[in-house]
Amino acid sequence: MAAGAAPGEWTGVPGVGVPLTRARGRPGVVDAVVAAVGPSNCLTDPDLCAPYETDWTRRWHGRAALVARPTTGDQVAAVVAACTRHRIAVVPQGGNTGLVGGSVPRGGEVLMSLAHLDQTLVVDPVANLLEADAGVTLARAQAAAAEYGLGLGIDLAARDTATLGGMAATNAGGIHVLRYGAMRARLAGLEAVMADGSVLSRTSGVAKDNVGYDLVGLLAGSEGTLGVITRVLVRLAPLPPWRVTALIALRPLPGAGGPVAAAVALVNHLLRQLDGLEAAELFFAEGVELVRQHASLPPPPGASAEAFLLVEVAGRTDPLEALSQALVGHPLVLDTAASTDAAGRVALWAYRERHTEAIAAQGLVHKLDVCLPIRDLADFWAEVIASVRRCRPRAQVICFGHVGEGNLHINILGLEADDTEVDALVLGLVLAHRGSISAEHGVGVAKRSVVGHARGPVDLGIMKALKDALDPHGLFNPGVLFPTRERGGPRGTNRTFGAMGEFG
Ligand SMILES: Cc1cc2nc3c(=O)[nH]c(=O)nc-3n(C[C@H](O)[C@H](O)[C@H](O)COP(=O)(O)OP(=O)(O)OC[C@H]3O[C@@H](n4cnc5c(N)ncnc54)[C@H](O)[C@@H]3O)c2cc1C
Repeated sequence: MAAGAAPGEWTGVPGVGVPLTRARGRPGVVDAVVAAVGPSNCLTDPDLCAPYETDWTRRWHGRAALVARPTTGDQVAAVVAACTRHRIAVVPQGGNTGLVGGSVPRGGEVLMSLAHLDQTLVVDPVANLLEADAGVTLARAQAAAAEYGLGLGIDLAARDTATLGGMAATNAGGIHVLRYGAMRARLAGLEAVMADGSVLSRTSGVAKDNVGYDLVGLLAGSEGTLGVITRVLVRLAPLPPWRVTALIALRPLPGAGGPVAAAVALVNHLLRQLDGLEAAELFFAEGVELVRQHASLPPPPGASAEAFLLVEVAGRTDPLEALSQALVGHPLVLDTAASTDAAGRVALWAYRERHTEAIAAQGLVHKLDVCLPIRDLADFWAEVIASVRRCRPRAQVICFGHVGEGNLHINILGLEADDTEVDALVLGLVLAHRGSISAEHGVGVAKRSVVGHARGPVDLGIMKALKDALDPHGLFNPGVLFPTRERGGPRGTNRTFGAMGEFG
């Protein structure tokens, strides 16, 4: 247990969780959940529960009282009602690919896995909408839409496991935000179980609907703290038949932030020259080296470059010619390789998409997903590298990100799990540049202590009022997004949503 933590308090440090005897063995709750989902979908055996209790990064884990695996929206509502009755907290979980510790228990909650709520998956090619249960994975949804020549306009490397419900709950971004926006922008409706067991249903999918507050937009990005999303409606867009991917070795601009400044300038140039720029991903030589070792890849073009930009352009006609005209002879381009066929594009994407797993394979990683004003991105990157080097000379910083939006993923290897000083240093730099401490992964438990610095008192007051109104007992995902306090909440964390003064 970390120094200063109360006995049984979950701290986010590997190996820490509440003792099994306290967390499990609540016959009343177990009986109610078994009645709701059936015995085979109510897990209490520690070995069976274990895969649900550690997050993708392996930085965060805790013990659940039990794991409930509902297969219908009615079962979700029955589990929520049982948890409200027994005042036990609920942690919703989709594919458990989240990177901020929000999808795993902190100690003694009911872990509600939505991964088995995945039967409904319907494409409406007239309205260009996809309706799916929350547990349907992104890859399944993409395949269903592709049968009609349509796409979701959203894509990310965890597509085989990440669920649409989890993506709505985190307002996931990914590689196509540049053209189509993030998950909130793609949502045309949803269904969610609220804390009292009632069901919010906005599934008409009409293109215009100005009747009152945007509750769909509110639940998007709420990280399981306001309700359990059981169904989503996603807007579809025609899949462009032509697609070209290019990997570009960058020639840096002068100055400390040179490689990043070059990437920003080149993306701007491409946005002006091309119609269908869908992706612009930046990564660096250190990351490529890790990926190459991890995945046994050959050297990329311009192997000696300090930084690389991967771009994808799609359209109704072949964009290859226009892309090569925009790149050939450009002073910021050292070398480039492009492909239009699926296998070639996958091979180029591997240098970028395999970063997350290659970094995770090195051991424990501190992940900071941040967004900067685009003008400040290069200076910010240079400051991060220099500051971390000064503060922790042995740490390794691997950055990559969606440079079109100013979104960098800063991964720091070689730190202790509870070394929060470096995280605070980086997030402090983000705030000094008026950036966002969470671009697309959410706040989770990883960044909850910084929310009070990132939002003003009016924002925080409204967020608190919303949480109190929609989840008066602090049932949903306590400890995520908001700090907790010692007493008064549902069992499970022993603590509940606290005063906003606790932020910071
Ligand atoms: C290799 C890799 C690449 C990634 N790339 C990207 C990327 O490019 N862009 C990006 O944005 N993210 C990325 N992620 C992070 C992750 O995939 C997203 O956050 C995704 O949206 C999480 O979906 P999930 O189903 O796994 O949710 P989980 O991880 O299970 O849960 C995430 C959060 O949502 C809540 N939640 C889950 N399901 C529900 C529900 N049905 N109702 C209410 N709350 C719910 C959980 O309580 C938790 O707080 C990546 C992750 C990995 C491992």
